[in-house]
Amino acid sequence: MSYLVLARKWRPQTFGEVVGQTHVTKTLQNALKNDCLAHALLFSGPRGVGKTSVARILAKAANCESGPAPDPCNKCGVCREITAGSSIDVQEIDGASNRGIDEIRELRENILFRPTRCRHRIYIIDEVHMLTGPAFNALLKTLEEPPSHVYFIFATTEPQKIPATIHSRCQHYEFRRLGTAELADHLGKIVQAEGMGLQQDAMLLLAREAEGSVRDSLSLLDQVAAYGATSLKEVCEVLGVMGTQVLKELAIAILEGDVAKALRLIDEVYNFGGNIQKFATDLVVFFRHLVVLRNLGPEKAVTLMDLSRENVDEFFPVISKYSAHSLFQVLDALIKGQEAIYRSTTPRLSLEILVIRLCSMKEVVGLDDLLEKVDKLLSSAPIGKENFSKEPLKEISAASENDSVTQTTKECDPEIWTDFVDFVKEQSSFLGSLLVCCKGIETESNGNRIQLKCRPGMQYDMLCEVDHQQRLRELAKKFFGRAIDLEVEGVCVADNGDARRTGKTCNLRDELIQSSLVQEAVKVFHARISDVRIFSNKG
Ligand SMILES: [Zn+2]
Repeated sequence: MSYLVLARKWRPQTFGEVVGQTHVTKTLQNALKNDCLAHALLFSGPRGVGKTSVARILAKAANCESGPAPDPCNKCGVCREITAGSSIDVQEIDGASNRGIDEIRELRENILFRPTRCRHRIYIIDEVHMLTGPAFNALLKTLEEPPSHVYFIFATTEPQKIPATIHSRCQHYEFRRLGTAELADHLGKIVQAEGMGLQQDAMLLLAREAEGSVRDSLSLLDQVAAYGATSLKEVCEVLGVMGTQVLKELAIAILEGDVAKALRLIDEVYNFGGNIQKFATDLVVFFRHLVVLRNLGPEKAVTLMDLSRENVDEFFPVISKYSAHSLFQVLDALIKGQEAIYRSTTPRLSLEILVIRLCSMKEVVGLDDLLEKVDKLLSSAPIGKENFSKEPLKEISAASENDSVTQTTKECDPEIWTDFVDFVKEQSSFLGSLLVCCKGIETESNGNRIQLKCRPGMQYDMLCEVDHQQRLRELAKKFFGRAIDLEVEGVCVADNGDARRTGKTCNLRDELIQSSLVQEAVKVFHARISDVRIFSNKG
């Protein structure tokens, strides 16, 4: 006995058997009932979702000996001929291989003849977008005035390639891609009827891999059945895809910044023989699920995800630890990196680099968390929320004019300071160039503590780096012959402007930086002051 592939065996023979296209089948059945079927129909949608199946069912229903009826009987001679593809009056034409003007001219001559056995002549042209321009033009003339016994059903995956003149003469039906859960349900019925004993999570994987195409899902099921695979693990092996477990482990490794584990998992995928590019796509989709799950919670998310209920319940507590922003940030970076992996001649390396980068990404604090912190800050800071008026600068500015700031500090001896800067320059011209921008201020009378006052900017940022400070301390110890505590202060250094005004602004800047609210904000947000801008307060 020859084996009939599942896609053929389970090809729908009535409108009711078509999965997931009720919006199309209901409308067509109504048109049949009311005898108002258009003479040119355009069926568009992804491959394997039932476009030609529906076209055949429609051809049967319109021609059925016991019809026209909302569904074909599938028993009469006409129905059987159409099912077998041997009807003279219902012809299926492959637009890809009959795309020229000659074929369409021949078709135009044939349609003039009355149907032989059926009520109507029906032409189903698949992949109609493949027709040449002249062929479309020839077709257009027929569509303008079709003989009353002729119907055209055009099927295409690319409706945008159909000339507007043709498109506008057709009634357009859009077939949709099936959802993973919907497709898995459909597979479940077939698996049960065929006595296959495939596990639920394995069916979900098949549905996911088929990307909404019924035909593809059945081809995969054929493949799985041929190997006798039933568990998720076996199905993964047959299809050469990685299961959700690996994706979950890798996702957690990324979120926890565990580079070693992440690389080990990629190695596993590689050794398993998995396609790295496909795996990268799966990882993107998986993070998309995590983002949806984190934002909506398991109840609302489960219908929007390709994951089983068990998976959803298992993942939710794991990812709840991370902010929705962090998950989104990883997803965003993955989407951007995915393209590079696809283009790469060494996809594994590209994926590894991307994952290492993701592992080192800092947790992003959400706006809500930030606002909460600001609230806490304002209520706890000594300056008080009530004093945080619309014109805080005016208040502080007024204060700075009345109370003079007590100086406890003195500038380093200019000669010694210049010698020190020269010494550092000799040892490291880079560090020397940073010091040139600084003013040295002794903050302890014994001279063991020196503040490097520096204008905020690139030099300041460089000075703040721990390595640079460490090296500067070593050099200072060498130069001064004792340990010197160097600290970097990002403040205004008096420049060449109006000395009095600048001095005053400097004091104000110092004061703003030192103010308890600013200091508290620095602490709360783990921040660094990079710039202080003072706007004049006129009127
Ligand atoms: Zn029939």
